[in-house]
Amino acid sequence: MTRAQQIAFFKSVDTPFYFYDLQKLRTVLDALDREINQYKYHIHYALKANANPVILKEMVKRGYGADCVSGGEVQASLDAGFIPDQVVFAGVGKSDAEINLALNNNISCFNAESLQELEVINELAAQKNKIAKIALRLNPDVDAKTHRYITTGLNENKFGINPGDLPQVIELLNTAKNLEFHGLHFHIGSQITDLSAFKHLCLKVNEFNNYFKEHQLYPKTINVGGGLGIDYHNPEEKLIPDFINFFRIFDRFLELDPNQEVHFEPGRSLVANCGELITRVLYIKPGLSKSFAVVDAGMNELIRPALYEAFHKIDNLSNPQNHDKKYDVVGPVCETSDTFGKDVPLPETRRGDLITIQSAGAYGEVMAGNYNLRGIVKTYHSDEINN
Ligand SMILES: *Cc1c(COP(=O)(O)O)cnc(C)c1O
Repeated sequence: MTRAQQIAFFKSVDTPFYFYDLQKLRTVLDALDREINQYKYHIHYALKANANPVILKEMVKRGYGADCVSGGEVQASLDAGFIPDQVVFAGVGKSDAEINLALNNNISCFNAESLQELEVINELAAQKNKIAKIALRLNPDVDAKTHRYITTGLNENKFGINPGDLPQVIELLNTAKNLEFHGLHFHIGSQITDLSAFKHLCLKVNEFNNYFKEHQLYPKTINVGGGLGIDYHNPEEKLIPDFINFFRIFDRFLELDPNQEVHFEPGRSLVANCGELITRVLYIKPGLSKSFAVVDAGMNELIRPALYEAFHKIDNLSNPQNHDKKYDVVGPVCETSDTFGKDVPLPETRRGDLITIQSAGAYGEVMAGNYNLRGIVKTYHSDEINN
C-alpha cells in the first residue's frame, strides 16, 4: 500500500488514531532475524512497548518469546499464542495473584528482583506443588546515559537485586525446595543510543556469570534485557535500528560457554517506527511570539512528550510544502505539558489539516488513558485497509 493510499484512508476516518504499518514492522523484524540467527540469540519481545494483538501476532509468527511485567501481560501473551515455556515474567512488584497466574500457566521463568519476592514465589509454588524457575534480575550499576526516568540499572534505581544481597539469595536458592535456578537477568534502561553502555553491561555480566559459577549455580540463560534506542529524528531514513552494531557488541564482549543461551528483550526498537499517531488540526491560535496548532490528539493518547519531554517528529500530511513556518503543536487537555512539540517546522497549517506524530509505535497506545474522559484511542493497521 502506498503512502498516498494510506493518507486517503486517514482522510476518510475520524481522528485521532494510531496507525500501524505492518510492512514497516516486518522490515524491521527481518533485519533483526538476520542478526540473531547469525549469533543464535533468542528474542523475548517486551510486551509493555506495544501489546496490540495485531503486533503480538507478528511476534508470535517469528517464534519469539514474551517478556511480561504484569499478570495482564502474561495473560495477553498467552492469549496471543506465545508458548508458555517462552514467557518470562519480570517486575519489582509482582502480586500474589500475578505469581499464581504465572505458576498455573507454567511460564518459562520468573525474573525475580528481591529476596522477599523469592520467598513469596517459593511459598506459592509449594502450595501448588510446583517448581518455579528463577532468573535473578541483577542490578549491574551501569549508567545507560538516557533520560533519568528510563534508566534502570543504577544502584539508586528500584530495580534488581543489589550485589550486597547475593550471599543470602544464593543460600535461599540452595535451600528453597520449590525454586530452581535458571539464569541471570539484566536490563539497564531504555532508548539507549550510546552503545558503549552495552559494552559495560557485558563486562558486568561476565563478572556475575563467573561469580555464580564459582558458587555452584550455573546460569543456563543470560538475559541482557532490552533498551536499544531508535532515531526519533529520522524515522524514515533510520527505520531499522542499529541492530548490527548492537549484537556485535554482545558477540564480542560476552564471555560465555557455548551452551549458555543469550536472551534479549527488545521492545521499543522493534515497534516504535511502525506506528504513528494521526490527528487533525482543530484551530490555529496566534500567540504573541508564536502560533499554536491545536490538534485533536492529547497527552492521554500519547503521553511520552509530557512524561519525559520525548521528541517525536511531526509533519503535516495535508500540505506537504516548504516547512517555512513554526508552530507549537498542542493537545486539548487541560495541562501545559500537553504539548507534542515546540517550534515545530511545518508548512502553513490550517484547520482540518492531518498531522502525523511519528515513531509512536512504542509506549504510545499502551500508555493511553481516559483523562478528561476523552475515551481510549482507536487504532488501525495496514493489513485491514489493504482492500
Ligand atoms: C521495558 C523493559 C524492556 C524493553 O525495553 P525497551 O527499551 O523497550 O527495549 C525489556 N526488559 C525489561 C525487564 C523491561 O522492563
